[in-house]
Amino acid sequence: MAKQIITVIKGDGIGPSIIDSALEILNAAGCDFEYEFVDAGLTALENTGELLPQATIDAIAKNKITLKGPLTTPVGEGFTSINVTLRKKFNLYANVRPVVSFEGTKARYEDIDIITVRENTQGMYSGLGQVVSEDGSEAEAMSKITREGAQKIAVFAYELARRENRKKVTIVHKANILKSTSGLFLKVAREVAALYPDIETAEMIVDAACMKLVMTPEEFDVIVTTNLFGDILSDLCAGLVGGLGMAPGANIGEDAAIFEAVHGSAPDIAGKNLANPTSVILASIQMLEHLGMGDTAERIRNAVADVIKTGDRTTRDLGGNHGTTDFTQAVIERL
Ligand code: NAP
Repeated sequence: MAKQIITVIKGDGIGPSIIDSALEILNAAGCDFEYEFVDAGLTALENTGELLPQATIDAIAKNKITLKGPLTTPVGEGFTSINVTLRKKFNLYANVRPVVSFEGTKARYEDIDIITVRENTQGMYSGLGQVVSEDGSEAEAMSKITREGAQKIAVFAYELARRENRKKVTIVHKANILKSTSGLFLKVAREVAALYPDIETAEMIVDAACMKLVMTPEEFDVIVTTNLFGDILSDLCAGLVGGLGMAPGANIGEDAAIFEAVHGSAPDIAGKNLANPTSVILASIQMLEHLGMGDTAERIRNAVADVIKTGDRTTRDLGGNHGTTDFTQAVIERL
């Protein structure tokens, strides 16, 4: 059988070191992948003059599966976010961000298990219609939700809930104020919910959801929400399990999927061997599950869990005093 080819974008800042860690672990776990390395972000801008070169787009389209490090989008200067561009270009409509407690982290809770399913191409986050008046006194942006987009993400969330034996989906919205966009999202999500009587449905306004996630996170199982709310809520959820170093994300479409850490390129700790690679390792675990390699995924998850539980060579954010490379070795020794 032909080898599975994975497109790898190492990314900017801490990206190369955490991606190297994930690849070393995949190789040590016996994954017989072939990797096609391409650039995006600042690295690509420096090498090719473009933030998102055509060769990168072609590789993502050809291989269909991509593992990606965080990318730095220069602030202002007219640059569009590469992540937003990739999500739209490949119609990666579902962003799946699970957070699970690992014993041994410095988190406030011990039993968190929440998946945020975020609509990934529409709404306020999509960057549509961003205009600043010439004199800089007014700015506007557009938010657009379609029935089809809302329906697809709601079906995705309920199907995921059913597949993973989850009990409840919470629809998070702001339909009381954003009556058109959030209103349509809620209406369509309710219609979809009615088709899944085996799964409990709750509805929650986004501000209340933030408060409840902090106070009573056990109320949540699967969250389905629009793009911007999902972006914010999933970082909040990362905070429940020990921070951004612990949160992966999968961007799923019909023709391609991109797996990445939720966090960014963390320029403050880049090049210092300080980054916790767990998020991107967990993203590679999501990738293995997507490829039907659940057993290998489980082996890697158990190895990571044991390193964190025992505190053997953990990184600073996990309470340890070791670097990315030591952490990686500790995981590999357990495989
Ligand atoms: P960030 O890169 O997520 O970093 C925020 C802070 O979180 C870091 O300063 C660091 O805090 C901590 N952190 C993040 N990842 C960590 C890890 N793996 N291990 C340990 N600590 C970690 O957010 P940002 O500084 O706001 O954004 C930096 C750049 O990343 C921006 O250009 C932004 O556009 C980009 N970004 C890209 C993506 C993506 O490609 N998917 C996502 C978000 C942001 P300490 O100070 O505690 O060390």
